[in-house]
Amino acid sequence: MLQYLDKPEPEKEDNSDVLAACRQKIADQEQRIAYLERIAEVSRFLSSTLQLDDLLKNIVQVATELTQTEACSILLYDKATNELKFMPATISTSAEKLMDVVVPLDNSIAGWVFRKARPILIRDAKTDPRWNSRVDDTSKFDTRSILGVPLKMKNQVIGVIELLNKKGDGDFGQDDIKIATTLAAHIAVAIENAKLWEDLHHAYDELAELDRLKSEFVSIASHELRTPLAVILGYASFLRDQVTTAEGTGQLDVVLSSAMKLRGLIDDMVNLRHIHNDDVQLDLTVFSMKALVTDVMEEFEKLVKVKQLKVKLQMIQGDDPINIEGDYQKLYLVVANLLSNAIKFTAEKGVILVELSRQGQKIYFRIADTGIGIAEEHFSKIFEDFYQVEPSLTRRYEGLGLGLPIVKGMVDIHHGHIKVESVVGKGSRFTVMLPIAPDL
Ligand code: ADP
Repeated sequence: MLQYLDKPEPEKEDNSDVLAACRQKIADQEQRIAYLERIAEVSRFLSSTLQLDDLLKNIVQVATELTQTEACSILLYDKATNELKFMPATISTSAEKLMDVVVPLDNSIAGWVFRKARPILIRDAKTDPRWNSRVDDTSKFDTRSILGVPLKMKNQVIGVIELLNKKGDGDFGQDDIKIATTLAAHIAVAIENAKLWEDLHHAYDELAELDRLKSEFVSIASHELRTPLAVILGYASFLRDQVTTAEGTGQLDVVLSSAMKLRGLIDDMVNLRHIHNDDVQLDLTVFSMKALVTDVMEEFEKLVKVKQLKVKLQMIQGDDPINIEGDYQKLYLVVANLLSNAIKFTAEKGVILVELSRQGQKIYFRIADTGIGIAEEHFSKIFEDFYQVEPSLTRRYEGLGLGLPIVKGMVDIHHGHIKVESVVGKGSRFTVMLPIAPDL
C-alpha cells in the first residue's frame, strides 16, 4: 500500500464545546416552546370558559410550573378599603385563613408592586424593608424569594400576581418576569370577562324582577279594575235602555263607549300577560275565516263610515268559506286589531283592502291600507310590547302599543306567521299566514 509519509495526518478538531453549546441552545428552545404551548393552553382555556375560579386555578398552576416556584397567589385591589385581598380561587385549601387577611398598600411588597405598577424581584424577602410577615404568620408558609407583577386592565392596575420561592438554587430572572407578565394579562382579561358576565347577569336579574313586578301589577290592576267596570257597564246599559230622551241616550252612549274602551285595554293587558306566561289555551273549533272576517268588518262599520273609508273584502278563491281549525276568539282578536290599526292610521277617504286566500294547507289573510305607513327600521319593533312609532306623548293616535304583540302572540300559538310591508306615506300591508289546523 502506498503511503505518503511526508504528508501529516489532519489533526482532529475538538468540537465538543460547540456541540454542547448547540445542545444547550436546542434545549433552551425546546423549553421555550413548551412554555409557549402551556401559555397557549391558558389562552384557549380563557376563551372557552367564563368560570373565573377554574380559570384562575389553571393559571396559578401554570404559573408555578413555568416559573418553577412553590406557590402563586393573586391579590385584587379593593376600592372600598384601599387594600389588597387574596382571590379565594387562588388560595390553596391549606392556606384558607388567608381569605381574611388583607394586605396594605403601604408596608408590603405586593402594595409596592401595585402602587408603582412595576414588577419586582426579591431574593431574600425577609430582609426587605417592605416585608410584611402577617401573610406568612397566618398561612404558615415560609416565603424566601418573591416575584411580583402588577395586574393591569386598560392601563389601570387592578391587583398583583405574586410567585413565591424559586425552586432549586436558581434566582428569578427576566424569563420569569415575562411569563408572569403574560399570565397577568390573561388574568386581567379573565377578571374583566367575569365582571362583564356578572354585570350582564345582574342586569338580567333586575329585568326579570321588573318584569315580574309588571306582571303582578297588571294582574292585580286588571282584576281590581274589571269588577267595578263590569258594574259601570251593567248599570250604564240598563239606564241606556230606560232613558227615553235623545240627550240622555247620547250621554249614556258616551259613558258606555268609554267604559268599553277601558275594558278593551284591560283585556289587552290580561291577554299579553297570558302570552308571556305561556298559559294561553287554544279552544279549538272548525269555522269559516270568511265569516270571522265579515263579523269583524261589521263591528267596525260605524268607524269606517265616520272616516268615509272604502273597505273591501276580496276572496281570492271565490265562494270558498276558507274553513280553519282554530280558536275563534283569538283569531277574532288578530283580525280586529289589524283592521282597527288600518282604520286608525289611514286618513279619511282612504282605502283598506282585506284579502283572504288559501294555498294548500295554508290560509293567507292580508290587510292593506293607504295610511301613514311605517319606516322599515320599525318593522320588527312594532311587535314588541308598548312599542309605538310615534312617541306616546306627542302622538296623534290613541293606543297603548299592545295590539300587535297580542296579534303576534295569537298567530304564534296557532303556529302561524305574520309579516309587515310598508312605505312611509303610502300605506302598510300586514300578511298573516295560518295553517288550516294548528298541528299542521
Ligand atoms: P297601538 O296601535 O295601540 O299603538 P299596536 O301594537 O297595534 O299599538 O301598533 C304598534 C305601532 O305600530 C303603532 O303605534 C303604529 O305606530 C304602528 N302601526 C301599526 N299598524 C299600523 C298601520 N296599519 N299603519 C301605520 N302604522 C301602524
